[in-house]
Amino acid sequence: MNKKTIRDIDLQGKRVLMRADLNVPLKEGVITDDTRIRAELPTIRYILDQGAALIVLSHLGRPKGKVKPELSLKPVAERLAELLGQPVKMAPDCVGAEVEAMAQALKPGEVLMLENTRFHPEEKKNDPEFARQLASLGEIFVNDAFGTAHRAHASNVGVAHYLPTVAGFLMEKEIDFLSRATENPERPYIVILGGAKISDKIGVIRNLMGKADKLLIGGGMANTFFAAQGLEMGDSLVEESAVETARELLEAAGDKLILPVDAVIADAFSEEAQRRVIPVGTVPPGWRILDIGPKTVERFAAALRGARTVVWNGPMGVFELEPFAQGTFAVARILAELPDAITIIGGGDSASAVKKAGVADKMSHVSTGGGASLAFLEGKVLPGIAVIEDK
Ligand code: ADP
Ligand code: MG
Repeated sequence: MNKKTIRDIDLQGKRVLMRADLNVPLKEGVITDDTRIRAELPTIRYILDQGAALIVLSHLGRPKGKVKPELSLKPVAERLAELLGQPVKMAPDCVGAEVEAMAQALKPGEVLMLENTRFHPEEKKNDPEFARQLASLGEIFVNDAFGTAHRAHASNVGVAHYLPTVAGFLMEKEIDFLSRATENPERPYIVILGGAKISDKIGVIRNLMGKADKLLIGGGMANTFFAAQGLEMGDSLVEESAVETARELLEAAGDKLILPVDAVIADAFSEEAQRRVIPVGTVPPGWRILDIGPKTVERFAAALRGARTVVWNGPMGVFELEPFAQGTFAVARILAELPDAITIIGGGDSASAVKKAGVADKMSHVSTGGGASLAFLEGKVLPGIAVIEDK
């Protein structure tokens, strides 16, 4: 990676301001999944071990620029304290005189959590004065918030204009793995795309189509390609506005693009629906495709044999409903068992599908950023990465 990280800068005795993505799911004030907090522990421990005082910045939920007590980062600070095994001080805000005094008083090895940056409307506007106030709390800025890197906000981009800026370990890992999919991938390089819509992923398809050796398409997205081939799709999800684009992509990709050969259809969008496996062709009226079929799984397995790099974005079916999760889980298991491949999972639903399949730890990398990983795979310059100093 050509960006500076916390290894490239002297942190000893410094006040380090770190932007993390601690936007965890909460239910009535209780954290239901602390993955994002755990993901920051290596960076936090390293900074503290270097003899720095640490000030942590994050947003949480969508308070829309107003103070919403139920979106306080206090429970996150408490959970972080448990995981670190040391106290974490909680600031009443992220800017202002009281917070400045707390930051000034912080000693090496101590941690201060600032309050939700999105309590201020200036955060999402990337207001320069607000960014300057945040920056005044520290001497070095560490951006480890990959999940927010596709947004230019004050706490991840604005701050960087006032302080030396380096990446944390999570940011480094995300850039490291995702760039193996976009720059000089080891070949054969196979891209698997699925999910609901082509229009969400059109940028990813266009960017990766040229780089990949094969493009396997499943999920709802495949329906629109079938519609472009003139097939009747019954009540399947088809994106009429993207049929023309699908036709162009089919033409441009040639035999690189591999579509399902069979499908699981259902007579309702429900776990209790009647189900049938059909070869791809006409879907009867009132029925819809909700998963790829077993022959398609075999075909995809064959296409993946010998792969050295695999990127997967988008589930193969409606995996949220158990009867239609088999295709997605089968593909997850195939990836988990590839002997020599770097396997990279991007996208929020894809990450949860791989977790649900029980094979997340068998993947080389499961991205922590849904929207950010898609923007990266589209080949976009992410503003939160652009502000990190080059080596
Ligand atoms: P990611 O978050 O990984 O980028 P998407 O958000 O693009 O993935 O797609 C995930 C959604 O696609 C899931 O909610 C899933 O139910 C839906 N989906 C997958 N296959 C189908 C299908 N055949 N019909 C309708 N929806 C589908
Ligand atoms: Mg999604």
